[in-house]
Amino acid sequence: MNIHEYQGKELLRRYGVAVLDGHVAWTAEEAEAAARKLPGPIYVVKSQIHAGGRGAGRFTDDPNGKGGVRLAKSPEEARAAAEAMIGHTLVTKQTGPEGKLVSRVYVEAGCDIARELYLSLLLDRETSRIVIMASTEGGMEIEEVAEHQPEKILKVHVDPATGFSGWHGRKLAFALGLEGKQVNSFVKFVEAMYRAYVELDCAIVEVNPLVVTKAGEVVALDAKVSFDDNALFRHKDLEALRDDSEMDPKELDAVTHELNYVALDGEIGCMVNGAGLAMATMDIIKLYGSSPANFLDVGGTADAARVTEAFRIITSDANVKGILVNIFGGIAKCDMIAEGIVAASKNLDLKVPLVVRLEGTNVELGKKILAESGLKIIPADNLADAAQKAVAAVKGA
Ligand code: ADP
Ligand code: MG
Repeated sequence: MNIHEYQGKELLRRYGVAVLDGHVAWTAEEAEAAARKLPGPIYVVKSQIHAGGRGAGRFTDDPNGKGGVRLAKSPEEARAAAEAMIGHTLVTKQTGPEGKLVSRVYVEAGCDIARELYLSLLLDRETSRIVIMASTEGGMEIEEVAEHQPEKILKVHVDPATGFSGWHGRKLAFALGLEGKQVNSFVKFVEAMYRAYVELDCAIVEVNPLVVTKAGEVVALDAKVSFDDNALFRHKDLEALRDDSEMDPKELDAVTHELNYVALDGEIGCMVNGAGLAMATMDIIKLYGSSPANFLDVGGTADAARVTEAFRIITSDANVKGILVNIFGGIAKCDMIAEGIVAASKNLDLKVPLVVRLEGTNVELGKKILAESGLKIIPADNLADAAQKAVAAVKGA
């Protein structure tokens, strides 16, 4: 789950991460009032969307105008900047060409920047450790730095048994060329970020840029905080930060029905039980020359109601040209699944070809139900057979 910059900064602040003062505003009037609460004389008005690259982004109704992060020299200017953002659609490198609608801005104290650095924490799955990444190339997309100047990305891994210690921070500070009191300020900053990362069960915390001010302070100017969805049940308070308007509507629908769904851009809708089987199904679709429209794990306890919900979500995607159901009946019985498929196909008036591969408990009964349903279901005997038939069906369609 992702949250907005201002929410991320608020959380980080609680852990002692240095951030500037600021206030969220939903209207231009609120933005002006927010600026009046700050000392000035420089204010920064920042569009709040779940995407980076806002500074260099452009609004669809003002393609030659300024970006989604603007300096203001007075509360009135802050108001005008907010006016140009709220209710307008911002396109950045990360939003895709359709952009994202800005519904609120963050009005923040302006900062005297001496250096822009990069800092992030994430889980390195290869070493099973949290990795702290830093770079002197702040403000740029880290993916670009990784591609063109990989030597400029510094990494320190933290052993979970011993946790973070000062030397992790100092090692990075010296490599970044920090000096004097900046070193201490940086070490404290990283330590606070590490604590926030662990205690909040984050997936990623990225501060880009992390700036050194002219006064030698280390401050987070941007913050991207994303949580591990699987740990959210431990943080009921964080769930309130979810912004449904930022989510893919199909994914939101799936969350509500406790289905594990990720929208993708292929043409074969997949309905599978078990994440491993879902991954294998996506792979084999690729192998036979097509691509999956989604990842969908209906879970081990899939029943007729969930199967219907899953079908509804899959078929609401206009890119879906065919559906592949691949269910292994262990706890869920194949006859029950088959009944769910028949009911869903009838209810939803399915228009695209449907390939079904069932295996496991009561499989013969399940196949019989499908065969006798009178529906045009293409039965398959194994994974390869199912994938080949699904690909053939969408390519023929
Ligand atoms: P994004 O990454 O989405 O473009 P940032 O928050 O990183 O948004 O802001 C873009 C740039 O705007 C920063 O690299 C920085 O140069 C400038 N900036 C952002 N916030 C402030 C601030 N409070 N004071 C001064 N400059 C800022
Ligand atoms: Mg940024």
